Amino acid sequence: MLKLANRVSTLKSSSIMEISAKAAQLKAQGYEVISLAAGEPDFNTPQPIQAAATLAMKEGITKYTPAAGFQALREAIAKKVTKENSYSVDPEEVLVTSGAKHGLYLTLQCLVNPGEAVLIPTPAWVSYRPMIELAGASVIPLPLYEEDGYRPNVDRWKGMAIPPNAKGIIINSPNNPTGVVYSREELMKLTGWALQRNLWIISDEIYEKIVYDNLAHTSVAALGPEAKRATITISGFSKSYAMTGWRFGWAIADKPFISKMAALQSQSNSHVTSFVQWAAITACDLPESVAGSMVAEFDKRRRYCMERLDKLSQHLSYTRPTGAFYIFINLSKWLIANKMTDLEFCKDLLEIAHVGMVPGSSFGKEHTIRMSYATNLENLTKAFDRLESFLTR
Ligand code: PMP
Ligand code: GLU
Repeated sequence: MLKLANRVSTLKSSSIMEISAKAAQLKAQGYEVISLAAGEPDFNTPQPIQAAATLAMKEGITKYTPAAGFQALREAIAKKVTKENSYSVDPEEVLVTSGAKHGLYLTLQCLVNPGEAVLIPTPAWVSYRPMIELAGASVIPLPLYEEDGYRPNVDRWKGMAIPPNAKGIIINSPNNPTGVVYSREELMKLTGWALQRNLWIISDEIYEKIVYDNLAHTSVAALGPEAKRATITISGFSKSYAMTGWRFGWAIADKPFISKMAALQSQSNSHVTSFVQWAAITACDLPESVAGSMVAEFDKRRRYCMERLDKLSQHLSYTRPTGAFYIFINLSKWLIANKMTDLEFCKDLLEIAHVGMVPGSSFGKEHTIRMSYATNLENLTKAFDRLESFLTR
């Protein structure tokens, strides 16, 4: 067998993608599987974006582009962010990336040295840790507590020694896996706490357009010039315009940092696919109603799921989500009574009941599970019927 580099020897695939693949495999074998594992909208990408990509291909926008992205797209993103996210951005501060995921990867490669550490309020999305470790750095989890509704509470971390090698912190609101949206005040406190410790802030805002209950999303970089100076913002349209397969996103940071990220991109994946970039210019200009109608549909599903979960309160509890499309469920009562781990539960739920969910331990929180409600009500009804009989069998 080929000898692997140390850097990847312990690297594992994304657990979410693995569960989704396993669900797809069972489906291919003829089972009626309902996967609530991957956070992927079931809608198709809005028609104007599709049409723009098709036209771009016809017109020959099929060649290499600048590594940082088409200038017209960088301008469109800067304009969108200045208008919608309430802080001013120059096109030179924007890098077009292959999804938010690769934006995060490039950021961490450019920001952290081997031997340094990155703080992550936890539970947290599965890919942060491996990306940090690939940069040779280590992770310091900052615990979030269920009794705080998984909201950041810097007072909780008072007694923690933050080592001098800590380089940055990843903030993710609206949050995956908890669905919690941090308020402006909470973000002010969290950002102040990070700045006092000389931490750079990576703000993952991929769910920025998906908020409920009349809440508003706050961008960390909009909290003031100090916050903007210290922040690398990552976002994109994968979730808000159902563009997960397009692999498009962006990073915003100061010009020298962005130009180094562009250099790394030029030496690795070159740039984002040309006609995808062209279509993204159209996406930047769509009226609010486009994401709004999808969010309204997610909201119906969210309410349905909460109703069904409320009926299972003798077995589980959950944190009320106000953003993204996930519900984070505490299953400790049931798991302890049945002597099972969350990992075993998700495996059995998929194999026996043909319902896919993600074990909370993948996000750093045992005895929990995460469900995505980015699927239609018919599927959700079936999934809950099956979950109910699985729990009470
Ligand atoms: N950040 C978070 C918190 C996510 O849940 C995801 C999952 N898509 C990403 C980043 C990556 O997004 P993209 O698909 O645009 O790469
Ligand atoms: N981010 C999505 C999720 O958390 C998709 C999976 C992934 O990108 O790893 O389900």
